[in-house]
Parts: sequence; C-alpha cells; structure tokens
Amino acid sequence: MSNKLELTDAEWRAKLTPEQYRIMRQKGTERAFTGKYESFFEPGQYKCAACGQPLFESKTKFHSGSGWPSFYAPVNEDAMEEHRDSSFFMVRTEITCSRCGAHLGHVFDDGPHPTGLRYCVNSASLEFESDPNSANATDATQEKR
Ligand SMILES: [Zn+2]
Repeated sequence: MSNKLELTDAEWRAKLTPEQYRIMRQKGTERAFTGKYESFFEPGQYKCAACGQPLFESKTKFHSGSGWPSFYAPVNEDAMEEHRDSSFFMVRTEITCSRCGAHLGHVFDDGPHPTGLRYCVNSASLEFESDPNSANATDATQEKR
C-alpha cells in the first residue's frame, strides 16, 4: 500500500509516549487490568495510537476478563497484519497495524460468536474516538424516561 507510514526509530520515540514506544515499537505488553480501555465501553471507533488508522469498532468489543481490551473482529481485513510469534515458548499470532507496523497485541481462537476470535489488544496501542451520534442516542434514551 502506498499510504504506509514509515518513520525512523528516533521519530517514533519523539512521537510516542515511552509506554507506547515500548509496546508498539518493541512489542511490549501493558500490565493486565491497567490499560485505559480495559473496562471502557463507549460507542465509537478505536484507531491506531501511532498513525490513526481505524482498527476496531466498539460494537465488536467484549469483556473477556483477560485484563486487556478484547474485540472479536477488526474494522476490516486490511487494517492489520498477522504474524506468527513463537516468543516466550508459546506460539501465538501477533497483530500489527497494517499502516505503520505498530505492535497491537495478539489474536486467539477462543473468542465469542460470531467469529470465534479474540483480538487481545494493548490500550496503549489504541486511541478511542467517540461516535458523534452517540450523544443523540443518549438524549433519546433519557427522553423516554
Ligand atoms: Zn498504525
């Protein structure tokens, strides 16, 4: 793809927080239950915190109890790439942003219906943008009461 975002290591360090750099560029993992989106269920869209590419919709987010934000499907098939990861004596499938290559987390095959997949993502790799229509939806709910 022509819209890939490729920066030097120094540029990534300048752009990201130290925690984001550790996770997104060095394939780190935030501690379970510490991420800002772990128990966050507002309507909207989750984008790559490094480049802004849309990654997940809030409607596919579910509470997995794993300690990390979990989704059962990406926003589209082109949003991320999968890589075999055999570090830590486990074989897992790593997911990275297809635009900037940032490490997001891993995908497992023990997720809920309808995909059976669980995209386990670091909050630090995500930037939430609330749905502009959600404010109206809240108003409508309140008017009914
Ligand atoms: Zn990205």
